[in-house]
Amino acid sequence: MNIRHCIVCQKYFIPKNRKRKYCYEKECAIEYERMRKRLEYNRKKHNLHRHPYPYIREYTDTTELIVAMYYMDGFSPLYIANELKRDYEDFSKFFNHMISSGKMKKIIEMIEKNRKKGVVLPVSLKERLI
Ligand SMILES: [Zn+2]
Repeated sequence: MNIRHCIVCQKYFIPKNRKRKYCYEKECAIEYERMRKRLEYNRKKHNLHRHPYPYIREYTDTTELIVAMYYMDGFSPLYIANELKRDYEDFSKFFNHMISSGKMKKIIEMIEKNRKKGVVLPVSLKERLI
């Protein structure tokens, strides 16, 4: 069996079956169930059941910027995915890639540099999302 990232806590774990997406911590099981219900609810609400993954869509430069801002503010990938209405599994891959490729670090450095200069990029995150 391969080692896998828990989609809730991001820690490595060894899945006992191929479909297992989250680790064997009790909190992760609870959180995963909550996530799954929320996705299911949103699918029904927006009549999206025909599309199996309505929350998977393209990631742009703006997405990267917003994700980095959330990350700087200490929000977890799960929180960010929910806020951005993204499929969590898909988002996790994108997020982990941002970290491992060094892109997250670069964007954060750029934001910090600009903040020091008094430039807030692009606008405050909260304003953007309301
Ligand atoms: Zn976990």
